[in-house]
Amino acid sequence: MIYDCIIVGAGPGGSSAATFLARQGISTLLLDKEVFPRDKVCGDGLAPQSLYWIDELGCIDEVLDQTDSCITTGDIFINGEHLSTGRFPQDAQYPGFCTLLERKRLDFILAKNAVKNGAVFKPGHMVKEIDLTGKYIVARAESDGKMAEFQGMLLIGADGVNSVVARSIGNILKEGTSAVSVRGYYEGVDTGRSQIQIYFNERFFPGYGWVFTDDSGKANIGIGYAIDRNFPKKRNLQHVFDEFLGKDLKGLLKNARPDGPTAGWWASFFRPKSMVAERIMLIGDAANVADPINGGGIHKAMESAFISSQVAAYALSSGDFSVETLRTYEMLWKEHAGFDWRIGEFLLTIAKNPDLRELYLFLLKNIANLTKGNVHLQEFCSGVFLGMIPLKDAISPIALLNAIPLKPCDWVSMLYSSGRGGSLGLYDAFSAGANIVKMAGRIAVNPLSHLNWGAEVLKKSIGLAGNYMDALTYQGVIGCIQ
Ligand SMILES: Cc1cc2nc3c(=O)[nH]c(=O)nc-3n(C[C@H](O)[C@H](O)[C@H](O)COP(=O)(O)OP(=O)(O)OC[C@H]3O[C@@H](n4cnc5c(N)ncnc54)[C@H](O)[C@@H]3O)c2cc1C
Repeated sequence: MIYDCIIVGAGPGGSSAATFLARQGISTLLLDKEVFPRDKVCGDGLAPQSLYWIDELGCIDEVLDQTDSCITTGDIFINGEHLSTGRFPQDAQYPGFCTLLERKRLDFILAKNAVKNGAVFKPGHMVKEIDLTGKYIVARAESDGKMAEFQGMLLIGADGVNSVVARSIGNILKEGTSAVSVRGYYEGVDTGRSQIQIYFNERFFPGYGWVFTDDSGKANIGIGYAIDRNFPKKRNLQHVFDEFLGKDLKGLLKNARPDGPTAGWWASFFRPKSMVAERIMLIGDAANVADPINGGGIHKAMESAFISSQVAAYALSSGDFSVETLRTYEMLWKEHAGFDWRIGEFLLTIAKNPDLRELYLFLLKNIANLTKGNVHLQEFCSGVFLGMIPLKDAISPIALLNAIPLKPCDWVSMLYSSGRGGSLGLYDAFSAGANIVKMAGRIAVNPLSHLNWGAEVLKKSIGLAGNYMDALTYQGVIGCIQ
C-alpha cells in the first residue's frame, strides 16, 4: 500500500498531525518505535494553549476526565524564598487554567484519537532509514528484529529531538543552545492543592526547577537548564537535582516518597537548517519549535502539526511534493511563530551566561516583588512566561505601558520588599557590591567566552531590532506616534 502520508513519531506532534490529516480523508500511517502506553520524560504540564489544541483534536473530555488538577495560579520561588503567586491570564483566547497529565496517558489518548479518526498506527516500529531515491518516499523500520518498508507520497518527521528524519535531511541535532533536564515522580507532596511551583536558583541558572502537583499530592518534580559551548556546565545534573530536592524542597517533601526512578532528557533551542526537504516536513521537537523561555513544547508540536497538515493536504491535492511547495509550511510557521521564537531565543541567549546569574536573579526578584498585589501585572508576567501572550505583543510599548505599574508607591514598596527583612539597608548595598565583584571576577577569568557571548547577543539584537521595527510599523504604532 502507498500511503498519502507517513508520520514518524506518535508524540503530541505526530498523533495530532495524523488526526488532522486522517480527518480530511488522507490515508495516514503513524509509526512509533515504542509500544504504547509508553513513558516520556516531561513536566506533564498542559498549558492553556495545549488544552486549546486538545479541544481542536476532539479529545478534551477524555483528557480532562483523567486529570486531577485545575490550576489557575503559579508560585515563584527565588533562591529558596517564596516571592509571588501569579494568576494566569483570564481573558486570552485560551482557557484560563493549566492541568497536569502524565505523558504516558496523554500520548496514548492522542494516538488512539488519531486511530479513531482513521489513521493506521503501528507502534513498535523504529524508523532507521528514509529513502528518497525511488518514485515514492520510503521509511524503513525495525520491528521485532525484522525490517519493514513503508511507502508514501509524503513524510512528516515528528520523532522528537533525536530525530532520525531531521538527520536524514542534513540537520545537525546539537548545534546551538540545548537544555538538559531530569525529572521524577513523588507521592505525598504537601502543597495542599494542585499547584505549579517554579524555582529559580543560582545553583541551576539559566534554567529552573519545577514542582507540578495534582490534587492527590502526586507531583512531577524536575530541573532543566541551558548548556552552551561557551559555558559548559561542570556539575553533574543528577547531583544538582539531588541538591534541589534536599535544599529547596526539604520542607515540601518531608512526607513524600519517590514513585519510580528519575529520568533525564534534553531539548534544543536553535534554528534547524531546514524544516522541509523534498517530500518531507519536520514538526514539533524534530524541528526545535519548543518555547525557548519555558521549554514547553506540547502545544508547539500540535500547532506545527496543524500547519503542516494543511500544507500536506495542498501538496497531495496538487501532486507537487517539491521542496519549494513544502517550503510554504516553513514560511507559514515563521509567520505564525518565528518572530516570537526569535525574541524568546534572544532572551535565552542573554540569560545563558551563568556568570551574570546574580544580576538576572536580582531582576527576576524585583519583577516578582512588583507583581505582589497587582493582578494585572501577575497576569501579564505569567502570560508571558506561559507563552499565552506572544512576546512580540508583550514587548510593544503600549503593552508594556499597560502592564507596568506607574504609581511611585508600587516601586517604593517593591524596593522595600526586595531588601532583607523588608528594608533597604546597608546589608543590601554590601551584598549588591559583593555580587558585582563576584560577577566581574568570573568575567575576568574567562574573557574569551564572554566576548563570544557578547558578540552573539549583539548580532541577534541587531537582527531582532530590524524585525521589531517592522512589527511596530505593522501594528500601526509608529503611525499613531506621528
Ligand atoms: C524534562 C522535560 C520537561 C518538559 N515539560 C514540558 C511541560 O511540562 N509542558 C510542555 O508543554 N512541554 C514540556 N516539555 C517539552 C515537550 O516534552 C516536547 O516539546 C514535546 O514532547 C514535543 O512533542 P513531539 O511530538 O514533537 O515529540 P516527542 O514527544 O518527543 O515524541 C516523539 C515520538 O517519536 C518517537 N520516535 C523517536 N524516534 C523514532 C524513530 N526513529 N522511529 C519511530 N518513532 C520514533 C518517540 O518514541 C516518541 O513517541 C518538556 C521537555 C522535557 C525534556
